[in-house]
Amino acid sequence: MKSFNLDKMPTELRDGLAHYRMGTELESINLNSYLGLELKLHFKKEINCTNCGTLVKKAYAGGYCYPCSIKLAECDLCILKPELCHYAKGTCRQPSWGEANCMIPHYIYLANSSGLKVGITRSTQVPTRWIDQGAVAALPILKVSTRYQSGIFEKLFASEVKDKTDWRKMLKGNIEEIDLEEKRDELFELFGESIDKMEGEFGASQIEILESSLVTTINYPVLEYPEKVSSLSLDKNEVVGGTLLGIKGQYLIFNTGVINIRSHTGYKIELEF
Ligand SMILES: [Zn+2]
Repeated sequence: MKSFNLDKMPTELRDGLAHYRMGTELESINLNSYLGLELKLHFKKEINCTNCGTLVKKAYAGGYCYPCSIKLAECDLCILKPELCHYAKGTCRQPSWGEANCMIPHYIYLANSSGLKVGITRSTQVPTRWIDQGAVAALPILKVSTRYQSGIFEKLFASEVKDKTDWRKMLKGNIEEIDLEEKRDELFELFGESIDKMEGEFGASQIEILESSLVTTINYPVLEYPEKVSSLSLDKNEVVGGTLLGIKGQYLIFNTGVINIRSHTGYKIELEF
């Protein structure tokens, strides 16, 4: 495989185990099969915008050139803060993108990544989203009709449950088990009135309360978790790698440290194995 631009690693959940690939759409390697082996990423000192391919010195909004980062809907603030969705105001940067990605069913879920967290995802991104966050278990609790609605619920629950993952803790493994169904029932009890109120506001047909969905358990291809998590970056080192000890979330765990592949979106590299 020649050099290629890094992107979020595509994943798949098979028999409870996360499977990872790296490469391009045409050619990629099964990363799980490199566990325990030497793998190196050589930075080719080139970063390309993940949308238009332009050569950039610095990537914006997680892998874009500056013009794309201010033009694309997927780089807008409302993607990070869905409760700020402004599609209804008619000001979406790309209404057709919004229709395809935001004005579609979303789940609000509980997950155990570095502890209990609440999150939202497009219904098409299950279980990918959970694997990307390194969750060991996840449970959808509500299904709503738009991204905006999911954001309102996430914000509501976030007063009680964290909405962030502590990535260092997530990468250390040994995550304590959490009864997600019990936590769901607790939240429903605590926020019953608010949920009713939102049903009234959005319309009952817009909100589905998932009282009996099943917990998805996710195992990761990891031989050994690091005791101390030291972070590697291609901005600092031209070559990153070593013995591949594991893959979790969007991180590769080497005997030399960990690297967040997603935060290197657009970086042109060559793999040595
Ligand atoms: Zn661009």
